[in-house]
Amino acid sequence: DAPILRKPKWIRVKAPGGEGYERTRKIMKENGLVTVCEEAGCPNVGECWSQGHATMMIMGDICTRGCTFCNVATGRPEALDVFEPAKVADAVAKLGLAHVVITSVDRDDLEDGGAEHTARTVRAIRRKAPGTTIEILTPDFLKCAPSALEMVVESRPDVFNHNLETVPGLYPEVRPGARYFHSLRLLQRVKELDPSIFTKSGIMVGLGEDKQAVHQVMDDMRAADVDFLTIGQYLQPTPKHHAVARFVEPDEFAAYERAAQGKGFLMVSATPLTRSSYHAGDDFARLRAA
Ligand code: SF4
Ligand code: SF4
Repeated sequence: DAPILRKPKWIRVKAPGGEGYERTRKIMKENGLVTVCEEAGCPNVGECWSQGHATMMIMGDICTRGCTFCNVATGRPEALDVFEPAKVADAVAKLGLAHVVITSVDRDDLEDGGAEHTARTVRAIRRKAPGTTIEILTPDFLKCAPSALEMVVESRPDVFNHNLETVPGLYPEVRPGARYFHSLRLLQRVKELDPSIFTKSGIMVGLGEDKQAVHQVMDDMRAADVDFLTIGQYLQPTPKHHAVARFVEPDEFAAYERAAQGKGFLMVSATPLTRSSYHAGDDFARLRAA
């Protein structure tokens, strides 16, 4: 086990609570939904939930992969719940969200990687909550036929997000089941299939990467036409997970943010507490208004 480093002061957050937070929690519970906010032990849960922002995780809470940074259980997942797309759509409508982020576990056990289920979910939300913009945060569909990705793209989410998570040199120890260039190509393919969909990706820092490699990842993303970028500090969920190599200082994040803007990303969030879905809706609304 790797000891958990003491968090610097810029990482500490308030304990969750309050009326808005409780309301979000109740709607999630009543609809039997799993959120990545809770599964990942996200430090922003107090802030996000009090504003009705939550990231829902579909296709169960057991993943077929075992990324060493991730707190989601690895194992054999249960069968898909055919009613889930409707339940998610119902919760989105009740929460009155302007923007929703839907993510999922990786389903290497399914031939289409869960593509059809994801596409059904996007369509169900569109029908039930037509005013809500939809962001999906997808797995890599590594073992699937190209038609799986095409099916998801055809459901026309507003934002297609797939995280590269870390620099290529750390893939074997951080994302053992994944391939860096496959993930990059996936993002590029989305843009080729439907240029009207915004693409988004992100990495965590503090896993042991060097700055040069972070800049290379940004360049690779731009070469794949990725529009939005998130960079946040990796936090170790338990001693069994990958150790934090260092806490990146806020100034270094600010430097990444400036560099990314210079490279042409349309939207960048790089702060210690940035998560893939942190303020996703606000940022997207600002972009659409611009
Ligand atoms: Fe949930 Fe994302 Fe907010 Fe974290 S940043 S609480 S995962 S919506
Ligand atoms: Fe966690 Fe996603 Fe990796 Fe599964 S594929 S272990 S949910 S990061």
